[in-house]
Amino acid sequence: MSLKTICLIILILFLGAFIFLKVEAMGSADSPFNQTARFQLGKHPVARTILGLHNTGDARAEYLTGTGPITIAWFAPEIENINKDVLNKFAVLVNKYTGRPAKVVYAGKMSEDTVNLSGLNSFALGSQIQISPGGSKLLVFFTLDYTPRSGGELSTTYGESGLAISLNAHRSFLGDNGQYLDNYLLSSLLHEFGHQIGLVHNSDINCIMDLHAGIEGKPLESYGDSTPQDFCQQEKDQINAIKLKLGN
Ligand SMILES: [Zn+2]
Repeated sequence: MSLKTICLIILILFLGAFIFLKVEAMGSADSPFNQTARFQLGKHPVARTILGLHNTGDARAEYLTGTGPITIAWFAPEIENINKDVLNKFAVLVNKYTGRPAKVVYAGKMSEDTVNLSGLNSFALGSQIQISPGGSKLLVFFTLDYTPRSGGELSTTYGESGLAISLNAHRSFLGDNGQYLDNYLLSSLLHEFGHQIGLVHNSDINCIMDLHAGIEGKPLESYGDSTPQDFCQQEKDQINAIKLKLGN
């Protein structure tokens, strides 16, 4: 066999492995592959990037296995008056589930235009955010609105360490129940952080990872209920299971 043939065979094997892993990774979060091999691959930043793993069900090991402080750096449009209590409550919960100190810092203003998610890199990479040695950053982007955003979506994860919130989507969702904005901002922050630490969606309205923040497009308050402000028991159990898997 010539060297050329051997190289070609190796290339084909690599491509085959890549396609196999990619197809498996795009399957259901409950599939055997996504519950096992994906989880192991997801611990490696290079594999995460190449296979585009970071999605529902991928724990970012850094948040759950690190020990240094987590800096929650937030950005917001100047015209918005974000209630700091929301961020402080969020920090308490981040501390509760990671066991790491969590501190909140204001990091700068966001544009008042609809923000393109891909443009958040310039913030994410900003050197203005000081991270302690051994620490991690968690970036919170309060936007008036962001794009791309599917109808009904209130918030999303951005990359490995970002959470993006659409304030206008929250307001239009809440309608007459605008007084509950802070409660929904907290549940949205916690929902997206849940994705970052590897939780998947569920359909229990008393749980943070419920795919739909309300019932039939209306907030829970319209039905005499209220949006959860902490992970529910099944989610707490899942977090503990993820920590065990990560060897923490
Ligand atoms: Zn979600």
